[in-house]
Amino acid sequence: MKLAILDRDGVINEDRPDFIKSADEWVALPGSLEAIARLSRAGWKVVVATNQSGLGRGLFTPDDLTAIHQKMQQQLAALGGHIDAIFMCPHLPDAGCNCRKPLPGMFLEILKRYDAPAHDVVCVGDSLRDITAAHVAGCQTWLVETGNGQKTRNDPGLPKSVQIRPTLADVVDSWLTES
Ligand SMILES: [Mg+2]
Ligand SMILES: [Zn+2]
Repeated sequence: MKLAILDRDGVINEDRPDFIKSADEWVALPGSLEAIARLSRAGWKVVVATNQSGLGRGLFTPDDLTAIHQKMQQQLAALGGHIDAIFMCPHLPDAGCNCRKPLPGMFLEILKRYDAPAHDVVCVGDSLRDITAAHVAGCQTWLVETGNGQKTRNDPGLPKSVQIRPTLADVVDSWLTES
């Protein structure tokens, strides 16, 4: 089994500075759901790992988040794709949790849940904290230039091993031609 761990905002859907607070505000990036569906059809497991401090800030409710994720899964299902699980950190930045990226807690949890060796697992993000968390967990890291990615690609804090592609669709092209 191949396992991919994706950030949500700026990788799968358009990000916005004031948080995605409702299903209406959730808009897929062009080609991202099709790319996930290609992975699903190729037998990959796709998992999302997302910081959602907007919950801790009271900007939206757990029900809003459920509605957002139902919209994502329904649009994906129409294309033959599936996200196997969504791992989320709901905490505020100063809460002292170990799940908020750049800490690796969510990734370690996912590796345990799927009994997957870290070096076989590929992770995609648009922010330095996504790449840092995945790298510290021992996974392979891929940066996209959507969302914050244009800014992130010049960050001196990026690990040398990170691979950079314009969009999630380009990342998936690379994975499916390699394997
Ligand atoms: Mg992001
Ligand atoms: Zn957390």
